[in-house]
Amino acid sequence: IVPGGIFDPRELIKYAHDADAIVAQFAKLDKPFLDALEHCRIIARYSIGMDTVDLPAAHAKGIQVANVPDYCIHEVANHAAAHILNALRQITHSRDLLLRNEFDFSKIRPMHRCEEQTLCLLGFGHIARELYGKMKPFFAKVVAFDPYFSGQAAYPDVEFLSLDDALACADVISVHVPLMPATAKMLSDAQFAKMKDGVCIINTSRGTNVDEAALLAALESGKVRAAGLDVYADEPASNSALYSHPMVSCTPHIGAATVEAQKRIGAEIVDIITNFGK
Ligand code: NAD
Repeated sequence: IVPGGIFDPRELIKYAHDADAIVAQFAKLDKPFLDALEHCRIIARYSIGMDTVDLPAAHAKGIQVANVPDYCIHEVANHAAAHILNALRQITHSRDLLLRNEFDFSKIRPMHRCEEQTLCLLGFGHIARELYGKMKPFFAKVVAFDPYFSGQAAYPDVEFLSLDDALACADVISVHVPLMPATAKMLSDAQFAKMKDGVCIINTSRGTNVDEAALLAALESGKVRAAGLDVYADEPASNSALYSHPMVSCTPHIGAATVEAQKRIGAEIVDIITNFGK
């Protein structure tokens, strides 16, 4: 067991070089790390996402990589829902003002009736579909962008649009795509420019899917009214102008954090490792 807080692959390899199987969560398992493994045959990701492992390098060495794709769908959907309502109702922002004895209606940004607004889901996979079910009663309309989703017929109330059209009509945009080369910085300056003024951005997927510098600029210009973030380009997240912006609500990648989800993934990981090769 590697002591907590070690994420640097060059440090990790000292512990892992002779392992037969590896269980990893936040650590980045890059090509030099994978190349230095002496006889590892399986890496089990303690997660849904596969983005922390260099998959081509793992496959080139014959190492199988497994994840647990469905252990925290309710949790992350609920977490995104909480960030959406927090951003729309400016709960953390008004609380901060209240605690500093600075509250005044002029200090909160204009709020609008949720039931007259449009929610946009980027990616329509497990978590986004669960979130859709929970948020549908709150919003006038739900639109989605997911060029790989083929089950539209089962969702007649969702309007499936091109990325540009989805961005242009949304009041709230919630990101649910995996992190891959095609989705990295999927929301950057050019995409923010296409959005409505005063849009809210929620990201519970992976930090790098949103260009953090572009998001900060859009918050400062007022293009983005509020943001809710659970994930960051660098994790563990360090403080920055983005995270401390008054209209940003931050949680430290706790979307999957429930006792039930953690029990479930622990049991599944044990099964994956113990049944490997049987
Ligand atoms: P999923 O694989 O079920 O869904 C992802 C969807 O994104 C798929 O429908 C896919 O077709 C779509 N997609 C892929 N590329 C796309 C693109 N370029 N444009 C638009 N859509 C695209 O994944 P999921 O379980 O719903 O997870 C979604 C995200 O949540 C992932 O990034 C995952 O890593 C993250 N996640 C976060 C936490 C957390 O604690 N915050 C926990 C679990 C998962």
